[in-house]
Amino acid sequence: CGIVGYVGRSVDGGIAGHSALDVVLEGLRRLEYRGYDSAGVAVVSKGAIESRKKSGKLSNLIAELEAHPLPETVTGIGHTRWATHGGPTDRNAHPHLADGGKLAVIHNGIIENFAELKLELLDKGVTFLSETDTEVAAALLADIYRNKLAGDTAEGRLTRAMELACQRLEGAFTLLAVHADQPDVVVAARRNSPLVVGLGEGENFLGSDVSGFIDYTRRAVELGQDQIVTITADTVEITDFFGNPAAGKEYHVDWDP
Ligand code: GLU
Repeated sequence: CGIVGYVGRSVDGGIAGHSALDVVLEGLRRLEYRGYDSAGVAVVSKGAIESRKKSGKLSNLIAELEAHPLPETVTGIGHTRWATHGGPTDRNAHPHLADGGKLAVIHNGIIENFAELKLELLDKGVTFLSETDTEVAAALLADIYRNKLAGDTAEGRLTRAMELACQRLEGAFTLLAVHADQPDVVVAARRNSPLVVGLGEGENFLGSDVSGFIDYTRRAVELGQDQIVTITADTVEITDFFGNPAAGKEYHVDWDP
């Protein structure tokens, strides 16, 4: 239901700007007004993804993070869920991991053709841990990343995998993905569901609405229908689902949420 993403700059292996986890949790707090039943986060550190998720209020997730802290990193994603497929359990909360735990995905909306895609992936031997449509999107993305794009180098690979995955997904979705092979990148896509980029100095943000990053920047770019955006600390690249360059609509947020 609420989505936040962040990439900041690193110096000497440390963080130059904000801690991704702080930004993401602050964004989720701002998005609480939309309503939700579970919350979760993932950060990318030293080539690995680490994630925590909990059903219930954000305070449950915060307690979980106090008990099992996450490292300070420059890249992170966060989600508040409004369950549509699968009950509001810890297991069904986002992020959903795939590619042996190297890929994490969060999602707002509904993947209409998830049942058919799930059968296809089950046939290939993929196992699922949740009842969500989202995990099917994560598994599809992982299958494309790992198998179809096996010869590709890490650079740009997650974006290409997202393009190919989106060509197969039907319904309404805002999807965010991070991969351990490219620890300073967040890739996002949208169809029939909103996604806004927040432009910072040496850091960039993603939100299901501007509340997700309003404490950090008021320069926003609204993505158009069927677009994909790849953010790093210093770059924002927008394409359509076929890799053609595209542009969003830039504006200044001059109101207070
Ligand atoms: N359909 C997804 C689920 O049930 C995402 C729901 C949402 O938008 O939060 O997990």
